[in-house]
Amino acid sequence: MRSNPSDYEMVAPGSLAAIVSLLAGEPGAWLPIAGGTDVMVLYAAGKLPARKLVSIWNLPELRRIDVTADEVRIGAGCTYSDLRRHDLIGREFPLLASAAQWTGGIANQNRGTIGGNIVNASPAADSLPALLVYEAEVVLVSVRGERRLPYVDFHAGYKKTLLAPDELIQSICLVRRYSGYFSHARKVGARNAQAISKVCIAALGRLANGVVDDVRIALGSVAPVPIRLRETELAVKGRAIDSSLLLSARKTVMSEIHPIDDIRSTSGYRLAVAGNLVVEFLHRLNSDRSGAERDQVDNVLARWNLLPPDDAVNKILPCCGSKAWARAMVARRPLADEGAILAASNEVWRNLPRSDWMEAFESHPRIGGTHASVPAAAQSVTWSAQEQRNVTEADMALNHALADANQEYERRFNRIFIVCATGKSAADILAILQLRMANDEETELQEAAEQQRQIAEIRLRKWIQEMKRG
Ligand SMILES: Cc1cc2nc3c(=O)[nH]c(=O)nc-3n(C[C@H](O)[C@H](O)[C@H](O)COP(=O)(O)OP(=O)(O)OC[C@H]3O[C@@H](n4cnc5c(N)ncnc54)[C@H](O)[C@@H]3O)c2cc1C
Repeated sequence: MRSNPSDYEMVAPGSLAAIVSLLAGEPGAWLPIAGGTDVMVLYAAGKLPARKLVSIWNLPELRRIDVTADEVRIGAGCTYSDLRRHDLIGREFPLLASAAQWTGGIANQNRGTIGGNIVNASPAADSLPALLVYEAEVVLVSVRGERRLPYVDFHAGYKKTLLAPDELIQSICLVRRYSGYFSHARKVGARNAQAISKVCIAALGRLANGVVDDVRIALGSVAPVPIRLRETELAVKGRAIDSSLLLSARKTVMSEIHPIDDIRSTSGYRLAVAGNLVVEFLHRLNSDRSGAERDQVDNVLARWNLLPPDDAVNKILPCCGSKAWARAMVARRPLADEGAILAASNEVWRNLPRSDWMEAFESHPRIGGTHASVPAAAQSVTWSAQEQRNVTEADMALNHALADANQEYERRFNRIFIVCATGKSAADILAILQLRMANDEETELQEAAEQQRQIAEIRLRKWIQEMKRG
């Protein structure tokens, strides 16, 4: 049944104190609404039981990130964009930053909040596995004061939480202790962004003396709430990662979880994917970021740090395509490691004038094409071809549909369509393009800039790998 706006009342008292006293006056009568990205979906479907809404959107007390020497305290009203843009979160809590990046599209990331994601309590929510592995704590607030509890205890069952009817989540606390850990996140869905996951993983691990010294693995979409795989973690701790451990870890995962069939996937598929994701994580923990490799990367960057400025600009330019970006990156040298280079890139990119964003966009060929509208470096042309490999392999009908959609996009926004094509099929890209046609100018520009940021990140990693080989 359609909702009738006149059946609803909404107030916005504007301060945390006024809101908690409103909640205390009639416990359970008022539903807090933050970004509204879950609440409004229920409203539109005529399934919102609450009739009295209290806005907590953009409340200064909930929209701050405080950093102390020991912990980061994230206000529950912080949006995914706030998290994505925060350098320290990107550096020290990359699992949360990646979850923020693939939660919906830019419009959703500008509105959806971390507190809303926790309270909405979907088993498929993207940021929750990251909170589990970082062993977050939540601070709840009411007129009775604050209470702090481990996030792992917050979900009492499917869509049930320990939040009292007069309480709000005020903040989420993360201890700053994961610097030496390898982190790994993957979302398996129809696509990375703008799709609900069939299974998602967030995992952290650390090796010492050739054995797993510490490990934390959490999965979403395999139980009524996101879960830590305690049995698998125990089975892996203290062991060297070899083929027999990978085999037994896969078995433990598959006996530890009991996923269900639903419209997005089957239980059997989820079991198999969960096993694969854990094996992939362990495999990478063992090889991808070993100490030896880190040293090698550091040496490669040390050489780039010493190049004359013009040479250093030319070397890094194909990763982004904007000369202002390349010059700003060179001005920030020395950059110590891959993490520093990625963090610098994100910050420089965000602060560039829009004309420099346009220069980067123009360095790409149209999706499905081979030439950019302006001459691009040979390295950029090679990378574009690799990134769009799945598109060139698509059938003719799909490629025609994509070409038509590209033209329509160019007529509407007056520039080429930018999407991070790596790992996406032609059908994925077409679906994303069609969704983004509904964006207004500003939202779409921000979305294109975010996609370009992701492209630069992938290219920077490749660039470092290729410098190592050559
Ligand atoms: C197009 C679209 C795409 C999406 N894609 C994804 C995705 O990829 N991954 C994903 O995980 N989610 C996704 N979502 C779901 C949604 O965006 C997130 O769950 C978001 O974090 C909800 O935050 P919000 O501020 O909008 O919550 P709201 O809708 O405002 O509130 C949700 C619930 O949380 C409660 N609440 C909110 N803040 C507080 C607080 N501080 N204290 C107490 N209660 C609170 C509200 O009362 C309500 O019950 C998507 C939604 C849409 C519409």
